[in-house]
Amino acid sequence: MRSRVVLLGDPVAHSLSPAMHNAAFAALGLDAVYEAQRVPPDCLAEAIAALRAPGSLGANVTIPHKERVLPHVDRLTETARHVGAVNTIVRLADGRLEGDNTDVAGFLDPLDHNPADLDALRDTEAVVLGSGGAARAVAYALLRHVGLAQLTLVARSPKRAEMLAADLAPFDERDALIVRPTAEGGAAIRAARLAVNATPVGMHPEEDATPWPHADDFAPGQIVYDLIYRPRPTRLLREAAARGAQPIDGLAMLVGQAARAFERWTGRSAPRSALAEAAGLL
Ligand code: NAP
Repeated sequence: MRSRVVLLGDPVAHSLSPAMHNAAFAALGLDAVYEAQRVPPDCLAEAIAALRAPGSLGANVTIPHKERVLPHVDRLTETARHVGAVNTIVRLADGRLEGDNTDVAGFLDPLDHNPADLDALRDTEAVVLGSGGAARAVAYALLRHVGLAQLTLVARSPKRAEMLAADLAPFDERDALIVRPTAEGGAAIRAARLAVNATPVGMHPEEDATPWPHADDFAPGQIVYDLIYRPRPTRLLREAAARGAQPIDGLAMLVGQAARAFERWTGRSAPRSALAEAAGLL
């Protein structure tokens, strides 16, 4: 029987995930298919119940369901429980469904390699722009895996950022988390060794936009990491690099989160170059 993985989201039409995972299945000669399934919120329970059927390997979950799926699965990995969001559902051998979050490890991938070793970030300051689902995974990753002196959430909706900070407080052992409205974020950006864009500002087709128009705040010695992978580079990364900062774009995270999901569904090591090539990003 052909195995099946679905992407549960709304909208899903422009997702790169079907091309990426189908290329990875083909590269390993696996008889499996990945299909995007547009699921409005009132159909979510039914769509998740269908994942229990034999032949199903599981699912990816995207906007707007990453938080809504939590009560519908049988158990959560520690990471998914802590972050409060699921991007991957795995059908276990006994038919139960486990929610996982592979965005956290995907985000850390490019920091874990040269030139920006995670250790070099210890005791430094970082900024995350945004307070949505991706910001949640990024802030959790930084709190758990880097001993930062300060982590500032710079957001246009400080109330949402305060809620995120409150949710992550149990993992903030060094009392590093603070929130600043965008208008007051300049000092934190200038002091940051790492600045992460977790907003969609600057994403195709709005390529002239930038989440931080004050490019003079960037300087050599900083890492500026934009989760956006289209375009590569974004205006933010172009301007930061022009001031000597080290740019990192969203491709490695996209491939990293996909690779881990693939490994959870199949038990096989993911062909990362097939994933990246199929995304049209190499
Ligand atoms: P989300 O949950 O919708 O959150 C978006 C955040 O950006 C919110 O805090 C929102 O503020 C803020 N924002 C939106 N428009 C803004 C604007 N014009 N000015 C200032 N802030 C603005 O989205 P998400 O899932 O976190 O995704 C965020 C970005 O990360 C997207 O570009 C997505 O493609 C990217 N991403 C990349 C990967 C990867 O693998 N590379 C993985 C996940 C996400 P409000 O709260 O005020 O609305």
